[in-house]
Amino acid sequence: MKAVVLHKEHDLRVEERDIGEPGPGEVRIRVKAGGICGSDLHYFHHAGFGTVRVREPMILGHEASGEVAAIGADVSNVVVGQRVAINPSRPLGNCEFIQEGQRQHAMDMRFNGSAMRFPHVQGLFREEIVVEAEQAVPVAADTPFEEAACCEPLAVCLHAITQAGSLVGKRVLVTGTGTIGCLTILAARFAGATEIVATDVSDPALAIAKSVGADTVVNVATQPEGLASYAEGKGQFHVAFECSGNGAVLAGLLQVVRPRGTIVVVGMGNHVTLPISAIVTKELVVRGTFRFDVEFAWAAKLISERRIDVRPLLTARVPMDQAVEAFELASDRTKSMKVHLVF
Ligand SMILES: [Zn+2]
Repeated sequence: MKAVVLHKEHDLRVEERDIGEPGPGEVRIRVKAGGICGSDLHYFHHAGFGTVRVREPMILGHEASGEVAAIGADVSNVVVGQRVAINPSRPLGNCEFIQEGQRQHAMDMRFNGSAMRFPHVQGLFREEIVVEAEQAVPVAADTPFEEAACCEPLAVCLHAITQAGSLVGKRVLVTGTGTIGCLTILAARFAGATEIVATDVSDPALAIAKSVGADTVVNVATQPEGLASYAEGKGQFHVAFECSGNGAVLAGLLQVVRPRGTIVVVGMGNHVTLPISAIVTKELVVRGTFRFDVEFAWAAKLISERRIDVRPLLTARVPMDQAVEAFELASDRTKSMKVHLVF
């Protein structure tokens, strides 16, 4: 069984790994597609982000789909041959957050392809994997594997929009139109937003944003004052989703969001100075959002039925043996939105 293993920055190798048989409550999945995410790229280029460092060889990947190859005892949610998306999130134990239904905040969280814990939790870019049965989430039998592999990032975005309350009739701003920004546009449209404006510094990314439902797109590199008209009055947007991870963008949102509006911070930003007085006097809500929980199952249903159609985001599929080329391609925003490894 081959796997895509990161040893250190820019040292990505396809290596043999052993695979066991599934025990009770477990399933073995033949992985078919794995989406390369921004965090995988951070591991590839910098061996980590923030204080998180890769300290031992780690199989990358947390956005994947496949088909069930074998099931252990006491498994009833899937059958052999079934097509599934793999939920990389495994909250363990019975801490107060799990008891409160806030499973994404579990004290003991195993998340595939993450170096936050040591030993690291190995990832999903591999030909086969044994996981807990509940991590295998069925999709429709005819859902293409690349679309099914988008359940994880879509779940992130569905969780993000639940942070903002009802979007029905709302004017929404999405800053940053990479995969997460574009999926947030799709999710906000699904949730009833009547007008969506999107910003980025990449014209190809903005073209995809437009194709998935942004009414207006603004390239803030070539039109730095492109959002100025939305600052009129006391601001024009009911809700803003910050998906660029750029702290300076967050500061600018305080000018264009209406009084009592909500800013949901999705991107993992750098450090930034914010004018607190704007938050106070406009009674703004600034909320974080992290990962997902029940939203993974919503994503599997919405993608299976194409009620959320992720196809415009899929820019390339590359065989796993060319993983390095795939990571280089995924790093080039002029060419790529979502690149999938295929196994
Ligand atoms: Zn991801």
